Amino acid sequence: MKIETKNLTKIYGKKIALNDINLTIPDGSFTVILGPSGSGKTTLLRILAGLLYPSDGKVFFNENNITDIPANKRNIAMVFQNFPLFPHMTVEENLGFSLESQKEGNLFRRRIFTPSDVQTKVDETLELFKLEDHRNKYPSQLSGGEQQRVAIGREVIRKPVVFLFDEPLSNIDARLRYEMRTWIRKLHGIVKTTMVYVTHDQAEALSLGDNIILLNEGEITQMGSPEDLYDNPNQKFVAQFIGNYPMNFLQFKSSKNTLSLTLDKEITLPKKIQKELSKIEIAEGEIGFRAESIREVDPDKTIDENQIVIDCSVVDSEKILDQQVLTLDFNGETLIFVTKTKKKFTVGHKLSILLHVENLYIFTRDNKRAF
Ligand code: ADP
Ligand code: MG
Repeated sequence: MKIETKNLTKIYGKKIALNDINLTIPDGSFTVILGPSGSGKTTLLRILAGLLYPSDGKVFFNENNITDIPANKRNIAMVFQNFPLFPHMTVEENLGFSLESQKEGNLFRRRIFTPSDVQTKVDETLELFKLEDHRNKYPSQLSGGEQQRVAIGREVIRKPVVFLFDEPLSNIDARLRYEMRTWIRKLHGIVKTTMVYVTHDQAEALSLGDNIILLNEGEITQMGSPEDLYDNPNQKFVAQFIGNYPMNFLQFKSSKNTLSLTLDKEITLPKKIQKELSKIEIAEGEIGFRAESIREVDPDKTIDENQIVIDCSVVDSEKILDQQVLTLDFNGETLIFVTKTKKKFTVGHKLSILLHVENLYIFTRDNKRAF
């Protein structure tokens, strides 16, 4: 099922929770709606589900305008953070129940199941979810991961046209979260149904989605593949939000033919960048670069015209397994540098870093990407 919204707006009292959302979720995709807390993700998902009506705008499933169709007629599956199973029913009964309770008159599916249909589907689902050994157990006899598999299985068995997940893994521990994530991805590969997954966790979004819709303050900031968002952020917010470390930024001013980083330390930017900047005529803004793209200056190599050297000092260092995360100071500005070097750095250690022009991003004063 392809999902589209046109000029979708939701206002609660005076609060504009969603502002003019136009999006397309391709049929069969795994699409992630990502954004900080309060950005409107749940509101958007609930409107797609039909649990909430928009103040303005339309929702389409394929080419059908379903804006006014209630949730129980949309044949969608919703998976939330807490999805209680029926405690007095076994795994098998929990799975079968969703078919037995399926009503007629559904917009996208109309079918009544016989008891043997139900049994066949329950067996298939138990196998798919690796729950065969647990069929006669009650939810309280299962681990957290198993319970979650039953809960998702209960939705899968109904063959919904779309799966909507609202931060289903945010309350569980890291190891299980990883396991369930891999598992949901695998499930998508098997059922091939459109899945829309809401999260505030950018790492989760990057690892799960083919397609990410990034929301901020009720508006779409960027849509694209994980690579698009990481390599090609269209504004500073995206560059800060996506990535294990927020992008580093340094202010620059350009006047006549010179460009400088910070007020009293002049660093000439590579010609290629000066040329680009003169084309778009920005007098000041910020250059951005990722912590992972920084290299240490190698004294045995000459610096070419596409590189910039910045002399910093180490403020803090943290070792995470084979990586070191260094906090650097450059003239009062803080930079983060991630490296795999085995060298030890002490606080106050002078460190010259190397940036390549290919890894630089330029942002204007109003936080838009210039190039
Ligand atoms: P998210 O899921 O991204 O955290 P929500 O969609 O829950 O964001 O909320 C978006 C904004 O709308 C928030 O500022 C929230 O406080 C507000 N909001 C959500 N639901 C209501 C409501 N029922 N009444 C008033 N404001 C609401
Ligand atoms: Mg939410």
